[in-house]
Amino acid sequence: MSTLINEHVWHNAIEKLTPEEKHILINKGTERPFSSALVFNKEDGIYKCKLCGSHLFASKSKFESHSGWPSFDDAINEAVREIPDKDGVRTEIVCAKCGGHLGHVFKGEGMTAKNTRYCVNSLSLNFDKQNANTPNEKEAYFAGGCFWGVEYYLEKLDGVKDVVSGYMGGVKENPTYKDVSSGNTGHLEVVKVIYDPAKISYETLAKAFFEIHDPTQTNGQGPDVGEQYLSAVFTSDEKEKEIINNLIDILKQKDYKVATKVYDIKPFYEAEDYHQDYYTKHNKIPYCHGYIKKF
Ligand SMILES: [Zn+2]
Repeated sequence: MSTLINEHVWHNAIEKLTPEEKHILINKGTERPFSSALVFNKEDGIYKCKLCGSHLFASKSKFESHSGWPSFDDAINEAVREIPDKDGVRTEIVCAKCGGHLGHVFKGEGMTAKNTRYCVNSLSLNFDKQNANTPNEKEAYFAGGCFWGVEYYLEKLDGVKDVVSGYMGGVKENPTYKDVSSGNTGHLEVVKVIYDPAKISYETLAKAFFEIHDPTQTNGQGPDVGEQYLSAVFTSDEKEKEIINNLIDILKQKDYKVATKVYDIKPFYEAEDYHQDYYTKHNKIPYCHGYIKKF
């Protein structure tokens, strides 16, 4: 009956639920309409799963459906799973992370432009005003030699959504791999890391970056010698710059002669398709990078 994913993982969280919440989230009950102030809530924020805390709906997707239950016309990317209801008619929605029951989704009613109504029990939700302005996606830029290897390792970190190989730092617009390999464009092989700041901090990412390459090599990385393989971080703001400089200071205190340069962000040019996910596509392990604990 329950769709909970790995029930014993959520054991402690389930114990904290009230009998009414348990009735909804675990036993797929439905609360009475207009039973909660959340129905009328118009504040900016994030609606999270009461059982596991996963971010489910943004306030900008909430609309007044007059149904008596909080209604949204969109869910946060991949946060909500749709399954056929056991009544054979409706489509049930559950939290994609924990499997907790949320309510139902109705399509084609024409209530909003998105033509979708996620009808959610208030008791399945926690509203968090604090998260209203926290972006759930940020970008970081690192150069640590051949981008295939840097991409391979950073992509494995929890909270990293995607890593894209490309070029940054030179003057030529839209450089090709051939341009950059010639070594005269000023570009470095750079990876763009797209991450969720709620799950992994910039500092944790930066530490990993320093630990998967050798920041003391002055002429490239491993066997790859040339200016496009130099170690560098491109920072987007003063805060990132401070974090990087601080980590470099820590490494220097540990006698690493750090050669990593810190630059302000410049235009990022995505590398050709065949460079993306190179090691994964070719089922190989990087030869020029490896993890060494330094912090
Ligand atoms: Zn959940």
